[in-house]
Amino acid sequence: MREDNCIFCKIANGDIPSKALYEDNEFKVILDLGPATKGHALILPKNHYANIYDLPDEAASKAMLLAKKMTIHMTDKLGCDGFNLVQNNGKAAGQTVFHFHLHLIPRYNDDGQTLGWKPLEPTQEELEEIKKVITE
Ligand code: 5GP
Ligand code: ZN
Repeated sequence: MREDNCIFCKIANGDIPSKALYEDNEFKVILDLGPATKGHALILPKNHYANIYDLPDEAASKAMLLAKKMTIHMTDKLGCDGFNLVQNNGKAAGQTVFHFHLHLIPRYNDDGQTLGWKPLEPTQEELEEIKKVITE
């Protein structure tokens, strides 16, 4: 299940070379070409799913289990001090490659990166309102 002209389909299925850290029948884990830190990697399913909305439950489960295993293994090998898992869906959320991928980002004390957001300051009423929107 590949999509024409999808760079991650080509990488995940070996049509374009990459620095692969792990591979099985369903996933490839590669080094990111524009890393946030040393060791920044991407989990790619070999099948094409544009984002988490399209990702089947079974692939989602397997991706998270693989992320956990890779995090433990990479932390051991790299000696990093922390780890971010990042996953962007849609242009508004910063997605630039529209083939589902999960970022594995080793963090080092004083690595100078900031993966974060500017916290808003909602009132209790605003929190209650958004809670209602989501839960009702
Ligand atoms: P997004 O912004 O979609 O969550 O992340 C896309 C990521 O893919 C970026 O971190 C970018 O550096 C990486 N990337 C884009 N093209 C390539 C490529 O051809 N090879 C590799 N290894 N990484 C890529
Ligand atoms: Zn694809």
